[in-house]
Amino acid sequence: ARSWEVTKVRTTCPYCGVGCQLNLHMKGDKIVKVTGVEDAYPNKGRLCVKGRYGYDFIYSPERLTSPLIKENGKFREASWDEALDLVANKFKEIIATDGPDAVGGISCARSINEDSYQMQKLFRAAFKSPNIDHCARVCHAPTVAGLIKSFGTGGMTNSIEEFADTNCLFVIGSNMTEAHPIASTFVKNGQRNGAKLIVVDPRKAKLADYADEFAQIKVGSDVAFLNGLMNVLITEDLYDKDFVRDHCDNFEALKEKVLEYPPKRASEISGVSEEQIISIARMLADNKPGMAIYTLGITEHTCGTNNVMSVANLQMLLGNVGKPNAGVNPLRGQNNVQGACDMGALPNVYHGYQSVTDPAAKAKFEKAWNVEGLPDKLGLMIPDMFEKLETKEMKAIYIFGENVVGTEPDISHVIKCLEAAEFVVCNDIFQTETTQYADVVLPAAAWSEDEGTFTNCERRISRVRKVKEAPGIAKPNWWIFREIAKRFGQTWAADSGQELWDNEIAPLAPFFAGATFDKLDQGGIQWPCKTPEDPGTQILHLDGNFTHGKGHLMALDWTPPAEVPDADYPFTLSTGRRLYHYHTRTQTGRCEGLNELLPEEYADISEVDAKRLGIEHGEMILVKSRRGTVKVKAQVSERIPEGLVWMAMHYFENNANWLTTRSGDTITKTPEYKACAVAIEKI
Ligand code: SF4
Repeated sequence: ARSWEVTKVRTTCPYCGVGCQLNLHMKGDKIVKVTGVEDAYPNKGRLCVKGRYGYDFIYSPERLTSPLIKENGKFREASWDEALDLVANKFKEIIATDGPDAVGGISCARSINEDSYQMQKLFRAAFKSPNIDHCARVCHAPTVAGLIKSFGTGGMTNSIEEFADTNCLFVIGSNMTEAHPIASTFVKNGQRNGAKLIVVDPRKAKLADYADEFAQIKVGSDVAFLNGLMNVLITEDLYDKDFVRDHCDNFEALKEKVLEYPPKRASEISGVSEEQIISIARMLADNKPGMAIYTLGITEHTCGTNNVMSVANLQMLLGNVGKPNAGVNPLRGQNNVQGACDMGALPNVYHGYQSVTDPAAKAKFEKAWNVEGLPDKLGLMIPDMFEKLETKEMKAIYIFGENVVGTEPDISHVIKCLEAAEFVVCNDIFQTETTQYADVVLPAAAWSEDEGTFTNCERRISRVRKVKEAPGIAKPNWWIFREIAKRFGQTWAADSGQELWDNEIAPLAPFFAGATFDKLDQGGIQWPCKTPEDPGTQILHLDGNFTHGKGHLMALDWTPPAEVPDADYPFTLSTGRRLYHYHTRTQTGRCEGLNELLPEEYADISEVDAKRLGIEHGEMILVKSRRGTVKVKAQVSERIPEGLVWMAMHYFENNANWLTTRSGDTITKTPEYKACAVAIEKI
């Protein structure tokens, strides 16, 4: 195009798991405007403020342009050869001395699929280490574990567009108006089309304003509340007996368990009245099919996997699975957290969810990758990696695109672990709070500087396109991983995102086998897509055909959060995201418009607590937990119930993760970000 001409390039949003399709309006290599792609799934032309205005970070003068090596506590620029030789030699040395278990890697849920595929290949094929994981560990790992147990497949069962056509929307533990804004517009369409809207949350988040029923549940009481609903469905004979008989097992055990949770007991634990529990159960039964939608309010608990299975129990009991406008619909956090899971950046599976302990899968990948001795045991999860860095059983960590000094719980502990490491490498596009602890920082191409794919929360694989060159000598992440593998004697042929997808990712995983890059170029495809003729799969488990035979009903007991309020720390802290920023602001903090919209952070407290403690709106307070103290402005809000403090992780100084607990889900170790005990003090 000539310099004055504006061209349009279709791509996928770099922020949340909704995966909106954008048109970048380009003047040369400058994005001058962003619009939604009309008639494209999942957003049908709609965009939120981040998708529309959150692109200027790629032009920031703060971008990393050259590899950096730390010497005497200071970074200096280096050539690629020098930096890559250092990384490879150091990893070789540690692996030779301490074994491959002494190294670990954290992949990136914000980069393209092809990058995560390549990083897990680097760890497994070159380092022979099983220790690869990514940030699903701290958000939706309970979704993958729970839904695999209940249904046999860990993905969202239905699609965002169906929110507009269903008869009932049951939204639990999700502030979707702010965290997944475009998905919430389809919920509002659904309600306008006649669906009942039930919102369950400790905070009266904005979606509650539209709800037919809003249940203000106590933090961490989900299983008791859901068991209470199922108690009513069974005792009033409102459940779908045909569906349960034909498509589910373990009903008697579930029944016995939920009978221990009559509305009175469920009410005592959850704080929702008996009358409302009964009324919501009847509304669910009277308005079918219905969709259950949840986010991290369900997963980020010590009982996160149980919470997920409990939502699955409810939907199976209602017969709301395996049909249009129904299902269990987790909204994933980052734009490519579904994809990073799909690509095998997990300690238990190769890409396409092929188990590392399955000898047939191991043999298949050894042949395809032309290597011997792939690790056949489960690797370490992220929380274990940090523990082992602290005890020096792990020596080196490779952190790709994640700002763990901000996103992991208990920031002081994370810093201590990184300081204890012998060698830390980061791939990133900016210096972050985390790269400060690195020995080598490798500058990477950002969103819009490389060709590849993202996979959104509804399993839709969409194209991400390149519109400009990376700054300086920054390189694509898949290239960086390939060049390190070369120094381990491996020759990896793929030389682009397309070659990686078409020659390795699709042919080696049945889920993606029919989704060629050319086909993806025509528009997104939802996996499974197994053959060239396969158009993809909008709805999983159609007609009650679950991946592992019958849907598995689980008898689950309520357990309280690991840390509950006491005399010293009398409040519960819960955490989340606000509309205008994304996580630790590595991207949105470099977008002028978004910074203007939310230039500082608050701690939200109730009107009752504010009055009792004499705290005015906007006054500085201290929030303290057993792990740290932050100074932050109070936001007195009618949306917060007495006894609750709510904070985000957007600004480093008052990041909620100085306070959060490392206690994790008993199955997936996902930290309990949604509940810890704090005290607040007026300054
Ligand atoms: Fe991007 Fe999510 Fe907003 Fe869509 S809803 S524009 S994917 S941030």
